Amino acid sequence: MENFIVSARKYRPQTFQSVVGQLSLTTTLKNAIKSNHLAHAYLFCGPRGVGKTTCARIFAKTINCHDLTPEFEACNQCESCVSFNEQRSYNIHELDAASNNGTDDIKYLIEQVRIPPQIGKYSVYIIDEVHMLSNAAFNAFLKTLEEPPAHAIFILATTEKHKIIPTILSRCQIYDFNRITVADTVAHLQYVAQSENVTVDLNGLNVIAQKSDGGMRDALSIFDQLVSFCGNNITYQGVIDNLNVLDYEYYFKLIEGVLVGDVSKSLLILNDVLNKGFDAHHFITGLSSHLRDVLVSKDPQTILLLEVGADIGKRYAQQAQICSVEFIFQALKICNDCDLDYRLSKNKRLLVELALIRICQLTDVKKKELLNDNQAIAIQKIQIEKEIPSSVQQTVQTQTYEPPKPGITQTNTVQSQTESKPKANPQRPVSISINKVHNTSAPTVSYEAKPVTEIIDNQKFDDETFYKAWREFGSNLTDEIKKINFNNANLPKRIAENEFEILVNNVMQENELKRIIGDLTQYLINYLQNSAIVVKIKVIEETDIQKSASPEEKYIKMAHENAYLETLRKNLSMEID
Ligand SMILES: [Zn+2]
Repeated sequence: MENFIVSARKYRPQTFQSVVGQLSLTTTLKNAIKSNHLAHAYLFCGPRGVGKTTCARIFAKTINCHDLTPEFEACNQCESCVSFNEQRSYNIHELDAASNNGTDDIKYLIEQVRIPPQIGKYSVYIIDEVHMLSNAAFNAFLKTLEEPPAHAIFILATTEKHKIIPTILSRCQIYDFNRITVADTVAHLQYVAQSENVTVDLNGLNVIAQKSDGGMRDALSIFDQLVSFCGNNITYQGVIDNLNVLDYEYYFKLIEGVLVGDVSKSLLILNDVLNKGFDAHHFITGLSSHLRDVLVSKDPQTILLLEVGADIGKRYAQQAQICSVEFIFQALKICNDCDLDYRLSKNKRLLVELALIRICQLTDVKKKELLNDNQAIAIQKIQIEKEIPSSVQQTVQTQTYEPPKPGITQTNTVQSQTESKPKANPQRPVSISINKVHNTSAPTVSYEAKPVTEIIDNQKFDDETFYKAWREFGSNLTDEIKKINFNNANLPKRIAENEFEILVNNVMQENELKRIIGDLTQYLINYLQNSAIVVKIKVIEETDIQKSASPEEKYIKMAHENAYLETLRKNLSMEID
């Protein structure tokens, strides 16, 4: 049986020219050889598998070659080159600092360095993973690095440049290796596949390239793995099945559903994905990446950032046409919030489902109008007083998802910690819907907001009225999660004339509130006819809880942090007293 050689070794580049994706760097090295300006120490930095050691070996071979080609490449035929290629050259010494990181190893190396090469001009010492050397070893090495014998050249390679001490850095010529782009990786994989008589699907190769994250060695080992799974015909389906990658198809379908506000479809897709063994977090981060890809496909200038095959690129372009930028921004924000809350959440699946529902709501006109009804009424009130033309009124009603916040910005709200969400710009009507009818019929009259302070002369109000307004806002919310913050158990406290503070138990709750604080404040301002109202959110510190909370509240908080506690309590049938 023929010996199997892994592709990463079999197709290891033998010349600078065949190194993939590091053109500027290899050109510089070749120029150094051409002009005979060789440094005594080089530092090659970059992620794993991008060709650092390979380039170091090619460099060693090239400077020892007896018969350089006109392009200043190694000839690969002279005695020196052949011995290099057969890995029996005495001119190259490799030390893996990961396993030989002590002073003794370095001392041994330093002794070797003194001996000049018997054949060839240079002895090249490659120290891989040089950041693993102990401090003592680094220091022992310094002197030699500073004044090496004329025949010695050091090439240090590392994935973690920041761990190299400055005294070493300053003695080396530093070369930064790039991650290899998806396009370069795909091209090289195609070449390898051709040489191996393997037929491949381009979309499949793209997935491999993305999965390898810029490392050619990883890409080639994934390729080998797939050849052993799929045989000589690698299909897109085979790739995603074997690599545990979520099919693009899910996300394309999901967005199609979301755009028509189809909650059921999106939940079923999530269910399908979870049933296939993917975790919900993976799904939501994947959705973020998908939305990002749709976003970059919208603009011909940024389409370069899309790293997928031509077929899938076309689908992205199509989807980009039907998604508005606002929709993508909002959806990305929801995904991002979900991603941040994920770790803290006790019911992770529900969290992701809620995120999907919220995204569906972005385009669900009916729900949007329901949500806006309150605010619209409040705004109307002001408008009637100030006799704003009715066409503008229409704009406000149909267009604002986040109503404009006239006037608030110049009051105390600025100094409160409440604003987290980019406020809708009153100058520019915000159209979130991608619904065609909605979009095209959207009037473009700009709403010139009059500062509320002019309209409202801050009236005094008592706590009772404030709480009434507060509850009313809560009861109009359609979102159950948000509603929780408006139950009677947790009412804000007045901390100054017009300032209220609401305590929440954790960051998640804080984020939930922050999402609606703008609308809430506006509602209160209108209801109470006082534009100086500020609502602050405060997360209860651990010590606050211990001081003030009831045992039950303490337990809920602890259970929230450690889901196991609740299981334990149930298993032991314990009650909280
Ligand atoms: Zn040669």
